[in-house]
Amino acid sequence: MFPAPARRLAHPATALLAPALLALWPLPAHAASTPDWAVAGDEAAEVLSRYLQIDTVNPGGNEDRAVAFLGDLLDKEGIPWTSFPFDTGRSSLVARLTAHGTPTEPPLCLLSHTDVVPSEPQFWPADKPPLGGVIADGYVWGRGALDMKGMGVLELQTLIQLKRQGVALKRDVILLAVGDEEVDSGGVRQLVRDHWAEIGCSQSINEGGLGLKDLLFDGQTLYGISVAEKGIAWVKMTASGPAGHGSRPDPVQAPHVLARAVHVLEGYAPSIHWHWSLMELFQNVGRTQKGLTRLVLSSPGLTKLALKGRFTGDPATRAVLINTINLTNLSGGSSPNVVPTEASATLDCRLLPGTSPADMMSTLRTLVPDPAVRFELLQGRDSNESPTADTLYQALAKHAVTTESGAIRSDAVAGPILSVGFTDSLILRPVGVHAYGFVPFEIDLDEANTMHGHGERVSVENIRNGLRILYSAVVEVSAPEVPAPEVPAADGPG
Ligand SMILES: [Zn+2]
Repeated sequence: MFPAPARRLAHPATALLAPALLALWPLPAHAASTPDWAVAGDEAAEVLSRYLQIDTVNPGGNEDRAVAFLGDLLDKEGIPWTSFPFDTGRSSLVARLTAHGTPTEPPLCLLSHTDVVPSEPQFWPADKPPLGGVIADGYVWGRGALDMKGMGVLELQTLIQLKRQGVALKRDVILLAVGDEEVDSGGVRQLVRDHWAEIGCSQSINEGGLGLKDLLFDGQTLYGISVAEKGIAWVKMTASGPAGHGSRPDPVQAPHVLARAVHVLEGYAPSIHWHWSLMELFQNVGRTQKGLTRLVLSSPGLTKLALKGRFTGDPATRAVLINTINLTNLSGGSSPNVVPTEASATLDCRLLPGTSPADMMSTLRTLVPDPAVRFELLQGRDSNESPTADTLYQALAKHAVTTESGAIRSDAVAGPILSVGFTDSLILRPVGVHAYGFVPFEIDLDEANTMHGHGERVSVENIRNGLRILYSAVVEVSAPEVPAPEVPAADGPG
């Protein structure tokens, strides 16, 4: 899940206008009847409560438990599914609702991961433990409520509601509940490597962006839809030098060489790149504003000028604009009085679209030309992205800001974002999938910070609304539009 900015980016603004672009999109009619969202939402909250009680903490994962839980619910609805083991006690689940008749498009995938990160229970409310799944104060509490068992339940319940409502699908809709996202993406990598011929979706929904209240302007929720993710170069940097006694310092000893190399990397000053998604997002936001703010946000040149200082001043937003090198580990000797032959550092480098892991390796070599230092690429992945000119992206952007009565909200706006962290979507795009990261919850920064933190929770209201948003978007791209009823010609004058 992408990290939220540590603080708001701008100051309060004036009243908001309806997003003009979104208002132009008509809501098509579809064959399906509509679920009762209050009932469906309460059912989803109850399912999530039970799902959160299943221990799938990774490392370890034990995702077989999640597969059995989800499979049991699918069995009750008569939806076929298969499990694909990728390690002992660990598997992913693939369930499928098939198209009525010959599909007219490749499948749509609803992707989630079933594993969760570890917790520190001592920092959680005593009556709402990480594996409790407690429903209290209008929230469902537990590790994974936001990242991402909550979204997994929305996807499951969307599939179930499509079946119950008898929606005539024009394409297969596939639920992918995969293991091991939090450590190694082992579940999704196995499905892409060994089973892609059976899955072969053209579009996918996964975690990524979500709705953040008051992010840019007070009173406005910004729904970020992740269309791109930075790539990675995880690198081990090792310095070598003569071993010896700790009483005789010498600048050629490995720890000294390493310290100088780290110091050089601390001074890395990469150039700034404004990704197209950022410009498109600001233009969408600009349409909701008035006066000078609207003028500035409608012009990429003025936007860059106005926001450069603010964006580069905050580590969370700065990372969207540049390639980053982050020191995440140092290791060396084992005794205070022994100089080791080698000392090493681990570097977590995150790469913008257009910079490959090989490019970063050569940058590191240029920054640290010392022959006593060597670099080893532990893992590398290119950044990748999907277009906003896509039916799924547009359906998500529209329904994110559409109310239950079909009105376009004047206090919310949707747009594309570049995620600085990566998700399983990074694995799907290279096999031709248009992959979008969007969890349709509307939360504030305090709630967002509970992801991988303490007291993770999601409101029952968000589950209810999120299910409606996701279901509506899925219906839009998976069910054929119903032709408008023919209006009988009025009798003309006799
Ligand atoms: Zn996640």
